[in-house]
Amino acid sequence: MKTIYDVSFENKKALIRVDFNVPLNENNDVTDITRIQAAKPTIIKVLEDGGAVILMSHLGRPKGIEEKYSLKHIVDTISEVIGVQVKFIPDCIGEKVETEVANMSMGEVVLLENLRFYPEEKAGDENFSKQLAKLGDAYINDAFGTAHRAHASTAIIAKYFPNNKYFGDLLSKEIQSIKKVLESNEKPVLAILGGAKVSSKITVIEHILDKVDHLILGGGMSFTFIKAMGGTIGNSICEDDKLELALSILEKAKAKNVQIHLPVDVIAADDFSNTANTQVYDINKIPDNWQGLDAGPKSIENFHKVVVNSKTILWNGPLGVFELSSFANGTIQLGNAIAEATKNGTFSLVGGGDSVAAVKQFGFTDKVSYVSTGGGAMLEMLEGKTLPGIEAILN
Ligand code: AMP
Repeated sequence: MKTIYDVSFENKKALIRVDFNVPLNENNDVTDITRIQAAKPTIIKVLEDGGAVILMSHLGRPKGIEEKYSLKHIVDTISEVIGVQVKFIPDCIGEKVETEVANMSMGEVVLLENLRFYPEEKAGDENFSKQLAKLGDAYINDAFGTAHRAHASTAIIAKYFPNNKYFGDLLSKEIQSIKKVLESNEKPVLAILGGAKVSSKITVIEHILDKVDHLILGGGMSFTFIKAMGGTIGNSICEDDKLELALSILEKAKAKNVQIHLPVDVIAADDFSNTANTQVYDINKIPDNWQGLDAGPKSIENFHKVVVNSKTILWNGPLGVFELSSFANGTIQLGNAIAEATKNGTFSLVGGGDSVAAVKQFGFTDKVSYVSTGGGAMLEMLEGKTLPGIEAILN
């Protein structure tokens, strides 16, 4: 794996694909700078070597050129975060861009306009990739969030840099941390999968059964398993077309000696709201008109034991509807248990949109070993797929 630390960028213009697809509020202020902070080490490495930086990214899902998706809105935030004044170029290919880049001095940083203003970006267009490639002496991919896409700037472009394409600091850290879980000798290895649906995580579950010793299945997806095993789940969320699949997963786990841990009790509510009446029920005895929205006290205790006895932990998906404060406790207690394990030397990786949101909201970011910046990309790696953005640098 060739990373930016294997080379010097002295007198080189490095074309860096970053993932600056950040959330903006109605005033176009960046509301979460995590992804910009995450790209900082790579940018600084190039500058400290004596090189120049050309940043390229997408933002949102524009249909053609849409002002609200212009990367000009985030230039000041990037400058603040990296501590270097960034210059914005209002296009990403073409003569004007080429001239601006040709006139750059070492030590400078420019940001190109949203790549997705050109449909060629998502189409993985060769000519568009070639035009982008003209801008840099070296190519660095540091955009883990889009590494699972075969787009022009994330994958196709790499072929124009056969001898000078590199993994950025963030992308290599993301790969290492997932490898640390999937290829771990630090046992027991535990995966915790929660969230709303089994269907979105099936491939992950099937792939990681070969890699883990324990699997906690929590949150909304657990009800499909409970119903499949004959439980009564009231109005709880359930995918009735996945009942057989749930049983087959349980059988496969048994055959592979993976211990499955499902919740044994739930906080059920008579309405999907913060002010609903709540009641603790055994998970397989939820009455009609009640729905399980959070892990119950016995489940939390059981999960705590499994977590603190694990040496490697992967967490994806909340244990309840944590967006409603009345049903956030299970997810918070799980975060506490993972923090406790981490403090005692366990490696913990958290990834996937909603668990990352929960980790940030409840202040666990610095109490786990690594928080992934990529939702879809991380899930695809956990499914055992090779990601185009990673392949393109390796080959
Ligand atoms: P996912 O995107 O599949 O990881 O699912 C995350 C979503 O699952 C969050 O928005 C949670 O509110 C939701 N969730 C977790 N537990 C439950 C539950 N028991 N009932 C309904 N939704 C849930």
